[in-house]
Amino acid sequence: MSAVGDVALRASQEPAGRPRRMGDPGPLGKFGDYGGRFVPESLVGACREVEEAFREAWSDPQFRGSLATLLSVHVGRPTPLTPAWRLSAELGINLLLKREDLTHTGSHKINNALGQALLAARMGRTRLLAETGAGQHGVATATAAALLGLKATVFIGERDAQRQALNVFRMRVLGAEVVEVTTGSRTLKDATSEAMRQWVGALEDAYYCVGSVVGPYPYPWMVRELQRVIGEEARGQCAGELSTGVPDYVVACVGGGSNAAGTFAGFVDTGAQLIGVEADGGAGASRGRLGVLHGFRSLFLQDDDGQITEAESIAAGLDYPGVGPEHAYLRDLGRARYVTVTDTEVVDAALRLARTEGILPALESAHAVAWVIRAAEAGELPPGATVLLTLSGRGDKDTTTLMELL
Ligand SMILES: *Cc1c(COP(=O)(O)O)cnc(C)c1O
Repeated sequence: MSAVGDVALRASQEPAGRPRRMGDPGPLGKFGDYGGRFVPESLVGACREVEEAFREAWSDPQFRGSLATLLSVHVGRPTPLTPAWRLSAELGINLLLKREDLTHTGSHKINNALGQALLAARMGRTRLLAETGAGQHGVATATAAALLGLKATVFIGERDAQRQALNVFRMRVLGAEVVEVTTGSRTLKDATSEAMRQWVGALEDAYYCVGSVVGPYPYPWMVRELQRVIGEEARGQCAGELSTGVPDYVVACVGGGSNAAGTFAGFVDTGAQLIGVEADGGAGASRGRLGVLHGFRSLFLQDDDGQITEAESIAAGLDYPGVGPEHAYLRDLGRARYVTVTDTEVVDAALRLARTEGILPALESAHAVAWVIRAAEAGELPPGATVLLTLSGRGDKDTTTLMELL
């Protein structure tokens, strides 16, 4: 997707004055030097249409009300904020878990998929197109489509389809058409390219439902806004029922970065330290270089020739070679810090949380737990520090991976 769209032609510029962090990125969709809309001419209009429709919907109390109702009665929001009593005692900190694992379908992906499905219906579209890697976004999209009476077509790399057979079956049971992509490395990167290609040919009736804070503008902004509910609920819960006040640290795992962006958005205007935890083999924010892929400019893992390389992680949901543009910007500003953990630390952390708290996290979410354990044990977290951690999903989908290891 190297063709030039409307934004690519213009020089990057900061808005005058101090930019409002995690606010509206403005008509160019830029987060500092990152973001934008690098799509073929044929998709520029479609992206603009989505942007306009979302701006209008997001300022319409009726749309917000409908979404809030669905998030309550169908998804089970608000999700609890659970103090991790025993692990906190072991680590000498005060660890609070934001329980996205307790949502319907088992991860934060549904917050975004449902919001975009509602937008698609409002735009008069009848079909959702989506890419998926681990299958979580595919399942969330298939679920939202069934709920709203829309059709869904989900693109998945052939290799991922074999690894995630259960989720492929779930999508089909929910009525979605699943297309296995056989090009390239046959994983998420290729599924995303194919979904964008199909969108070009079906602009009249199809809506492209992106699964993270990636893709051409307005997607990184829109998906962050749809995930903001995580951070805003957590902020209220810290102030209210738990009376902990603003936490010292706010921690979330980062693949494309949507659960982290939604969490950070609730705390970016506080003194909390924001920490994004990446997979050692998928560390776009920590080790990526400037590049353009899938319609946006950001940090991507690349070889010496500038070819984007494959990400490799035990958690399929973190197998993306880049990171959302706003994370790259927050990193440059020094407002958020990005760290990595290894697969071994992740498995240990998942088991430790299961055995101390009775919660088996998704391996993606266990990245955040692994960093907190390491930092607390190394004395990097001051004793008694309050740490809010977003548990992005539940570990049921990972039991076969764990069975092979244990
Ligand atoms: C997809 C997924 C992630 C990674 O996606 P982000 O956009 O970075 O949030 C993390 N956790 C779970 C459970 C997922 O399904």
